Amino acid sequence: MNDKQLMQLGRALGVGGSGKKRELPAADGDAYDYLELLTDEQAEVAAQVNRFMRAEVAPIMNDYWSRDEFPRELIGKMRELDLLRRIWNEDGTRRPDAAMMEGVITLEACRVDVSTAVFFGVHSGLAAASIALGASDEQKARWLPDMLDLRRIGAFGLTEPEGGSQVSQGMRTTCRRDGDGWVLNGEKKWIGNSTFSDFTVIWARDEETDEVRGFVVEAGTPGYRVEKIMGKIALRMVENGHIYLEDCRVADEFRLHATRGWDTVSDVLGLARSGVAWQGVGCAMGAYELALAYAQERRQFGKRIGEFQLIQNHLVLMLGDVTAMLGMVMRLSHLADEGGLVDAQASLAKVHTAARCRDVVARAREIFGGNGILLEYGVAKHFVDTEAIYSYEGTNEINTLVVGRAITGLSAFV
Ligand SMILES: Cc1cc2nc3c(=O)[nH]c(=O)nc-3n(C[C@H](O)[C@H](O)[C@H](O)COP(=O)(O)OP(=O)(O)OC[C@H]3O[C@@H](n4cnc5c(N)ncnc54)[C@H](O)[C@@H]3O)c2cc1C
Repeated sequence: MNDKQLMQLGRALGVGGSGKKRELPAADGDAYDYLELLTDEQAEVAAQVNRFMRAEVAPIMNDYWSRDEFPRELIGKMRELDLLRRIWNEDGTRRPDAAMMEGVITLEACRVDVSTAVFFGVHSGLAAASIALGASDEQKARWLPDMLDLRRIGAFGLTEPEGGSQVSQGMRTTCRRDGDGWVLNGEKKWIGNSTFSDFTVIWARDEETDEVRGFVVEAGTPGYRVEKIMGKIALRMVENGHIYLEDCRVADEFRLHATRGWDTVSDVLGLARSGVAWQGVGCAMGAYELALAYAQERRQFGKRIGEFQLIQNHLVLMLGDVTAMLGMVMRLSHLADEGGLVDAQASLAKVHTAARCRDVVARAREIFGGNGILLEYGVAKHFVDTEAIYSYEGTNEINTLVVGRAITGLSAFV
């Protein structure tokens, strides 16, 4: 067995690579037992996701990641976990502990693979959320049950080639009333899941009133075309699409009937931002745990590299960051579930965890030396995936401006 196989076996069995009972502490990124604060149901879901990730995702993720493909077979297996119904009710209301549930699901997924968490986050946190917050009761009854069962997969189309951070002000995709339907024109970029989703929620500006409206556009609708974005260096298992809408006609029943213009989009993004903060924590925790296990096994100069002071310094700084980040997002989700979360708090968590995650994964990669850039050792994927976490759901700069405005009372937005 090589180093990597020993390490994987050790992690899976909770024993040292020799097969003897592990004499060194297990790699565990939860130093303050924060996860002991979860309810029994939350802890059970966390354990289920953890098992699923290690049994179903870990063995195939590098292969799919290398091929820029999302493993569709995971969808049926994920259905058995029934995760969305831990968050959403069929009428579009949220379960009392929805934010914490979403958080721990995200954490456990990202500990192993961020792409899997993104598939789930786009479908549940963005597409289902758009319908839950923007559809009429009749529309929710039509779409949500199948979405909660992962029988129909959704995507969320907001960003445009020329409108990322500024999409609220410069949305170019338009909708025009035409008889009993609507005609959509424009482009959307970066749309996760859209290459295989059953439908995408498309946000468009009304040519007549300037209001932002949401539409459920089903795959195969004439005038709706998706091209897979290739050449990504991060989240390569997520399939991001570039969507072209060319005189795409949709019936009025596919317009989300209960949206409140941009406010609905903003509410959806607010919910999703907390989820992305948890992604940073899970990704950092997974990288820390891989690095610690490697430092306990890898030998140089006749010693385990974990015996070197400089390596221990890296590990302690990483664990400090992971611990602080985990405390932050747990409180964030408590606030959200109590109904007391404000946007700037979600932005603060997103901007902070993404930035600290960047530092943690860089140190983790460094501990692996050259092996740190090989996909098969695991840490390289955390290292590059962090770059996407850093830039979506509001870039570092945009979330900083949101928090800066809240704490100073002065807006620095231009
Ligand atoms: C992997 C991935 C998945 C994604 N999935 C989706 C999805 O499913 N659906 C969707 O709709 N979108 C998605 N996005 C898009 C994502 O939300 C945008 O990338 C993000 O909002 C940033 O927009 P941009 O990339 O156009 O960067 P830009 O807005 O062009 O920003 C470029 C740089 O300028 C800075 N900047 C911009 N404005 C200001 C300012 N006022 N002050 C200071 N600095 C500023 C930014 O912080 C950044 O550093 C995804 C993106 C990625 C990378």
